[in-house]
Formats: sequence, C-alpha cells, structure tokens
Amino acid sequence: MKGITILGATGSVGTTTLDVVGRHRNRFQVIALTAHADVEGLLRQCLDHHPQYAVMVEETAAQRLRVRSKQLGLNVQVLSGKQALEDVAKLPENDCIMAAIVGAAGLLPTLAAVSTGKRVLLANKESLVMAGQLFMQAVREHGAELIPIDSEHNAIFQCLSSQERHGVRRILLTASGGPFRGWSQEKLRGITPAQACAHPKWSMGRKISVDSATLMNKGLEVIEARWLFETPPEHIEVLVHPQSIVHSLVEYADGSVLAQLSNPDMRTPIACGLAWPERLDAGVQSLDLCALGHLDFEPPDLITFPCLQLAKQAAQAGGSAPAILNAANEIAVQAFLEGQLPFTAIAHVVEQTLEQVFPSNPASIEAVLECDRRARIMAAAAMARVAA
Ligand code: NAD
Ligand code: MG
Repeated sequence: MKGITILGATGSVGTTTLDVVGRHRNRFQVIALTAHADVEGLLRQCLDHHPQYAVMVEETAAQRLRVRSKQLGLNVQVLSGKQALEDVAKLPENDCIMAAIVGAAGLLPTLAAVSTGKRVLLANKESLVMAGQLFMQAVREHGAELIPIDSEHNAIFQCLSSQERHGVRRILLTASGGPFRGWSQEKLRGITPAQACAHPKWSMGRKISVDSATLMNKGLEVIEARWLFETPPEHIEVLVHPQSIVHSLVEYADGSVLAQLSNPDMRTPIACGLAWPERLDAGVQSLDLCALGHLDFEPPDLITFPCLQLAKQAAQAGGSAPAILNAANEIAVQAFLEGQLPFTAIAHVVEQTLEQVFPSNPASIEAVLECDRRARIMAAAAMARVAA
C-alpha cells in the first residue's frame, strides 16, 4: 500500500486524482486531504476515502467539518491553517504527495512535500514559475522524485524518461488554443468569465481556465518546462494543436521526434505519476485515431494573445520576472472572474506590473514571496489605472 496525501483535494486535479485512486484501493491509502473552504466537498471525499487527516485552511470551515464528520461518525483528525498544509505534506506515512493547490498559495506546501525527499506529483505549476531555480535546487538537495502532472510536461517526461538529456534539440509544447482560438482582439473585448471558463477540450478550475483562454497558461508552462527539463526557453516552442491529442513532443539531435498521445483526460498523467514506472488502468477510453481522422497544428497568435509573449519575455529575463508575471496575472485573473476587469485588460495589467517592479535575483523563498507581495500591490495599482 502506498500512502498518498492530496494538497488541493477538492479541486479539478484533486478530485480526478481521487477518481484514479478510487479505482485501485488495494494499492493506495489516502493519508491526508486538504481544501481551502469547501466543507461539504471535503466531507464527501473523507466519507469515500477515509483519510487520517483533513485540512481546511480556514478555521471556521474546519470547525464545521469537525461537527459534520462527528455527526457522520467519521474518524478523521481535522486540522486548520496554512501551516497544517505543510505539516500533512511532511507526514511520515506519505509515500507520495499530489501538489494540486492553485496559484502562489501552493508554493510553501509543495516545497514542504519536496523537503521529504519523496515522490511529488506536481500540478501546481505556479510554484515552479515563481521560484524555479530554488525549487529545483530543493528537489536535488532532498532527492525528491518530481513527476510533472501538467499534461504537456507529463508527456515530455514520458518522452525523455529513458533518454539522454543532452541529445535534445527542441521541446514542442502543444496548446489547444483555448476557447477563443482564431478570434480577433476586437471580438475578445466583451468576453464574460463564463465564456472564458468554457474550455473546448478540458474541464479545469476557473483560474487555469482563464489562463488557457489568454494563453498565459502556455506561457507559464514554457517557464515550467524550462526548469523541469533544464532547457533554455529559446529551445521550447509552442505549437497550437486544437484536438489536444498530442500532449507535447521532444525532438532529438538526430531528427527523431517523440510524442505522447492520449485522449484529453487528466486521469492519464495522474495515473502515470501515481504508478510510474508501472502503468495503471485510469478509466480512460482508448484513443480512436481513425475517428479523429486528422490532427492539426498551427503557430500561436501572439498579437491577439499577448500574455504568451509576456511570459516568454519573463522566462528570458529570468530572476524575479516570472514571479512578478505570475503575481500580476493572479490578481488580474481574480478581478476578471469577479467582473471587475475586462478580459483584454489582463495582459495590460501584467505588462504594466512587469514594467514597474524592479526585477531582482531572489536568493531565498522569503525573497520570492516578498517579490510576489510587491508585484500584487503594483498590479492592483495598474488595475485601478486601467479602470480609470
Ligand atoms: P481548482 O481551482 O479546481 O482547485 C484548487 C484546489 O486548491 C482546491 O482544492 C482549493 O480548495 C485549493 N485552494 C485554493 N486556494 C487555496 C489556498 N489559498 N490555500 C490552500 N488551498 C487552496 O484548480 P485545478 O484546476 O485543480 O488546478 C490546480 C493546479 O493544477 C493549478 O496550479 C493548475 O495550474 C494545475 N493544473 C490543473 C489542470 C487541470 O486540468 N485542472 C491541468 C494542469 C495543471
Ligand atoms: Mg497543461
């Protein structure tokens, strides 16, 4: 039995992970589940998977979970607060930790998981975007086994796993293009959160759905790939592939190109991470290439979707630039989701914040978090200017 803790259990990746785990109850034992404030969601998961610990970040939510679990006769220890996220990530009973919190909030709990030297399944791309160098240093120092769960990076991981890294010429990162592929900037002006979150191929949390619609998600993924695979950003190319069947490709010096294909279903990369190097039945349908008929590829439209270009520039600039980009994006996306910022202004807020926060070379996680804080303040000011 492998002990698993899921950070961000009630989200899209978290629930999908429990779907896979639930198909193999003889192999996995759930140690701890965490959520921000969704009491009923976490309660349902506790009833189904019987973890030893449940964490709610908010104390009032934790109190309600304690009452509800007692009523139902559940034997689970309910903890609360940010520190508890790190504590359960470090439990000795864990063999594997799924890092599936969204945004910068995932950085410290994910690093806590890394510090155990165990297997860490990385969905929280923002932690690598914010602190790539320090994060990978921690992975090496503690001997953690980092397996990417982002479908593109999991594809690259699979294409690279038995190969020599030095023979790699390029990484081709595929992108679905999001719900607005082929649209003009003019047409994007009045986009609502519901439209932006209606992704044609993937069902995901709201933040990453908006990131996919602006193509910022692909920009964050370029930075993620840069650190995971020690590849300079200029050797990572983005390729729009609307069917989302080819999840990414690796080109070698001899011209060979390896790709990983599957139906667009997060259970595939999650099952891969859980069982690697073994393979598990993830409940995913077989790929029917004849029914698909053709697979299409095109270059990304960097004019209509400037976020991808901004992220590439931040990747090239290095230092704190990606952390500033990430913080500004989180602030702008939140405001867009709350109806306070037009869709097309997300890129403006990110661009202005990058222009105004002086980039540095953060030498510690505290310094990264300080950059994040300053960038959030500047992004809020940039938003006020955009609204004026
Ligand atoms: P989501 O919004 O559906 O779920 C987020 C989870 O994090 C929830 O359990 C929520 O309770 C928890 N959470 C939110 N804010 C928190 C906070 N401040 N402190 C602690 N916990 C908090 O998000 P998601 O779509 O599952 O994405 C999770 C991560 O995985 C993101 O980094 C995303 O980029 C990445 N990812 C997601 C997908 C996908 O298919 N959804 C694919 C690739 C990568
Ligand atoms: Mg992805």
